[in-house]
Amino acid sequence: MTSTSITLEGCGRTFPGGQVALHPLNLTIAAGETLVLLGPSGCGKTTTLRIISGLESPDAGGRVRFGERDVTALPIEKRDVGMVFQNYALFPNMNVADNIAYGLRIKGLSRDAIRQRLVEVMAMVDLQGFDTRRIHELSGGQKQRVALARAIAVRPKVLLFDEPLAALDAKLRDRLRLEIGQLLRELGTTAVYVTHDQAEAMALGDRIAVMQAGRIAQLATPREIYHRPTSTFVADFIGAVNRLEVHATLADHRLRVSGGELHAPHLTGVEAVYCRPEDIQIAADGNTDLRGEVRQSIFLGQSQRLLVDLGNNTFLQVETASRRQWRTDEPIGLLLPPEILFHPERHACPAKNLEANHA
Ligand code: ATP
Repeated sequence: MTSTSITLEGCGRTFPGGQVALHPLNLTIAAGETLVLLGPSGCGKTTTLRIISGLESPDAGGRVRFGERDVTALPIEKRDVGMVFQNYALFPNMNVADNIAYGLRIKGLSRDAIRQRLVEVMAMVDLQGFDTRRIHELSGGQKQRVALARAIAVRPKVLLFDEPLAALDAKLRDRLRLEIGQLLRELGTTAVYVTHDQAEAMALGDRIAVMQAGRIAQLATPREIYHRPTSTFVADFIGAVNRLEVHATLADHRLRVSGGELHAPHLTGVEAVYCRPEDIQIAADGNTDLRGEVRQSIFLGQSQRLLVDLGNNTFLQVETASRRQWRTDEPIGLLLPPEILFHPERHACPAKNLEANHA
């Protein structure tokens, strides 16, 4: 399947009444790439997607290009895009096959070609034998497979997804997320995928654009976003993050924080250090960086999350695969090696993160 790069140049959108949904942004999505737009409600994800699709126009001066071609003035039906929505947007009065074949008929494909394409895409989304089923006889997951099949049937250059899994239950969402990822790799189509679910973004995105209040806060690979967030907003939005205030900088690049001292040569002069709960280790012997008391433990199945009180009204979340059970108020020793400590505004990058980025 052919795919195309997408370029947005100075694309912003202010709605009548002065509501700025999107500040003018520049963005290039490579041919064949899956870009995920991730962010909280109202940050401008859908507006960006609608500008790419042609459902929305950018404010004056904004340009949208597919490859070299300027498509700014083209409506959605002339842009060669396939779209999948949260609410499926299927034709309720048509059966499954007619829904999927809809775009093929408009394109004027022969009866045989349509039949062949139907068999092909229905196999791809695991809907064999569903041809004559009515839409209201399908589960949510099946409806979304029909919508997916309809979008890919016309072999568009660009696939656009607007929270396609948001209405499904957690288990089905996990499964369809894997299937969509597999499908996108097979098709090699350029895709833009809107979600507010960080797990979905990490699983599907070649790159993720984290959006905040109408702007892109960070655009990078999932690993970079996770290990090297450039702002506390991004660090907080992707996974959980602890912040420890630095009370004093000591000799040998040691930092005094509540509960003890940390060694962080790459972070001298910072006012606080950050770390992920799952990176913190529990000390097996007296050799600890921080000491505290377990105030709460939440069993998560594969792991448990501890809330550790370090004193001075400072609490640390620790996620551990250990099966040991801690009593409330039991003392605990923690290890926070330099490579797990970071600061969003510091470019100095701990060794661990570099490794992960180049893995
Ligand atoms: P959600 O996850 O809730 O769908 P989003 O990130 O997709 O949010 P957008 O739908 O792009 O956000 O909306 C961005 C901002 O623009 C919001 O504040 C929204 O209220 C506003 N907005 C969107 N569409 C319109 C419109 N047609 N008229 C006025 N304001 C709008």
